[in-house]
Amino acid sequence: MSDSTGTAFRVAEKFLSINGEGLCAGKPAAFIRFTGCNLRCSYCDTRWANDHDCPYEILTIGDIVGYVKFTHAHCVTLTGGEPLLREGIPELCAALMHEDGLRTEIETNGSVSIAELAELRKSGKGELSFTLDYKLPSSGMEKYMLTDNYRYLEKTDSVKFVCGSRDDLKRAAEIIAEYSLDKRCSTIFSPVFGRTEPKDIVDFMIENELMDSRFQLQIHKFVWAPEMRGV
Ligand code: SF4
Repeated sequence: MSDSTGTAFRVAEKFLSINGEGLCAGKPAAFIRFTGCNLRCSYCDTRWANDHDCPYEILTIGDIVGYVKFTHAHCVTLTGGEPLLREGIPELCAALMHEDGLRTEIETNGSVSIAELAELRKSGKGELSFTLDYKLPSSGMEKYMLTDNYRYLEKTDSVKFVCGSRDDLKRAAEIIAEYSLDKRCSTIFSPVFGRTEPKDIVDFMIENELMDSRFQLQIHKFVWAPEMRGV
């Protein structure tokens, strides 16, 4: 989809809030949520943004950069759905990276290659980081995980494990060890909201000496009602 200012995107919502998770958790950020996802996780909390009839607005790269500048946020998070499925994301990221003092973060579900975007970091201009999910067994989507992405990870990136069961925790520990993820980037453990006891995750991390990993709750679900949109 294109117009006179280049690629345009279907955006389900845009808003200014705090980063609820990832390395910049707790910091104010502008959010751009794109429509559509290629996965169907059992615990998905943004299913509405993946439906074919989800409401959206069409925004160009210029519109998105303009909105982010308007918010005065120092961080922008591109999320979904799955943002990396959208044509033109590398061009959008390049434009955002040209904004002085702006950190661009991409939240991706771990099933789509980040190779082209990781290449953008070589320009040395701007900050771009990835929060990559590893979908564990209880999500029902583990078979789609693209572990080849791990070769592109840097210290400013994170791999996030949303854990819904004891088996998920064990699998997360296996994946961290198999790919030496805690040496490459941050590794984050988080509960499936309402399904896993946070304490069980902390106990597991301590029992298994996951000393370089971190535990995180989705802050926005405690500040606002868990099902609330636009926060
Ligand atoms: S990847 Fe994210 S948006 Fe897609 S189905 Fe899973 S939880 Fe929902």
